[in-house]
Amino acid sequence: MAQVIRSPKQYDVCIIGSGAGGGMAAKILTEGGLNCVLLEAGPNVNPEKDFKMLMWPYEATHRGAGVGGHARENFGEFLAPNGAWKIEGEPYTSAPGSNFQWFRSRIVGGRTNHWGRIALRFAPIDFRSATRDGLGDDWPITYEDLAPYYDKVESYIGVFGTKENVSSAPDGVFLPPPKPRCTELMVKKACDKLSIICIPSRLAVITRSLNGRLPCHYCGQCGRGCITASNFSSSQVLLPPAMKTGKLTLITGAMAREILVNKEGKADGVSYLDKATRTEKRINARAIVVAASACESACLLLNSKSPAFPAGLANSSGTVGKYLTDSAVSAECTCTCRGGNLIARMIFPAAITSNLAADATCLAWACSTVCAAMKKVTAPH
Ligand SMILES: Cc1cc2nc3c(=O)[nH]c(=O)nc-3n(C[C@H](O)[C@H](O)[C@H](O)COP(=O)(O)OP(=O)(O)OC[C@H]3O[C@@H](n4cnc5c(N)ncnc54)[C@H](O)[C@@H]3O)c2cc1C
Ligand code: SF4
Repeated sequence: MAQVIRSPKQYDVCIIGSGAGGGMAAKILTEGGLNCVLLEAGPNVNPEKDFKMLMWPYEATHRGAGVGGHARENFGEFLAPNGAWKIEGEPYTSAPGSNFQWFRSRIVGGRTNHWGRIALRFAPIDFRSATRDGLGDDWPITYEDLAPYYDKVESYIGVFGTKENVSSAPDGVFLPPPKPRCTELMVKKACDKLSIICIPSRLAVITRSLNGRLPCHYCGQCGRGCITASNFSSSQVLLPPAMKTGKLTLITGAMAREILVNKEGKADGVSYLDKATRTEKRINARAIVVAASACESACLLLNSKSPAFPAGLANSSGTVGKYLTDSAVSAECTCTCRGGNLIARMIFPAAITSNLAADATCLAWACSTVCAAMKKVTAPH
């Protein structure tokens, strides 16, 4: 039987995963005075060295195309993630007939190193879906309960935008947006003609210095990771202040395998695999925060079976691992107008699609309407 290495230290909290959720938990809990340990399955990240923000194609292996031109399949050679759809040694299967592509990050900061930075609030109606249309369930909290926390997060991470009073996209605490580019002015003009609401995006990119971070210099390479920390990532904005408290122990290459419970049925530790030594280790803590991302957190809870919890932890309803939505990366449509020349390619990132109701009909509507408007604006007179 493999030997389990136990740490004699007792932490207040063990946090699993260092992305958006885990990073925020680490900052708030350590600043509140608790001794925390953070288990992260991926390696550490050094933005100065690892982020390819200003790298030229000729500086990259295979000019960024990857071996056999396959870099695109795993998000390119320039981009910040250490992971993507395929992770060596971590295969997964999807249900017959489904084409579920599971995007995972394996690095300190998780997906926040390369996310699109679109930072929208849920609207009051999003908390009341059952009341609205009879589908799903109403949330046990309301928008008003959450709004002060949106305020806090936006003030700290920095989000630009404009106050517009749009009911489906509540206003927040915004930095001023950058000036619109020519194409954006064209889209705006077209939308105005058709009375379609068209507003500046809301992105977690700082347009003014904030908490010692430099403002954006508009190189346009956010997905590669931002060396100047002008956009938000957990690795650059949440974890440094947490480390500064001296109360955070970060363990990288630590794949949590099971949450352990004591005789009273309370979670009191985590068993994890140290990927470097291939040994199993145990951490003791008074509380566990599971922040390994939606699907992986569910997986971990289901793997945490014990005589007291034969169906896994926190699963008395039997719904852990069901009804999950992962991050839809984008939907894309291209439009040819004006003598067959391509004039518009529109990529709707996940947050925008969900704000538009996240269905194909809605996307198609948005695309066709904006293109029709662009045709009018660009048609020869
Ligand atoms: C390409 C892309 C673009 C996106 N753009 C946007 C956007 O514009 N706006 C928006 O709102 N959202 C966007 N998202 C979604 C957003 O990034 C995620 O919703 C958010 O990062 C989720 O935070 P999280 O903490 O749950 O998980 P993550 O940020 O994924 O962090 C989870 C961490 O846990 C670690 N981990 C996993 N399993 C274990 C384990 N067993 N043990 C230890 N560690 C583990 C992982 O290595 C990872 O570091 C985007 C996502 C992608 C992939
Ligand atoms: S935030 Fe600004 S400076 Fe940083 S990568 Fe994005 S565009 Fe470049």
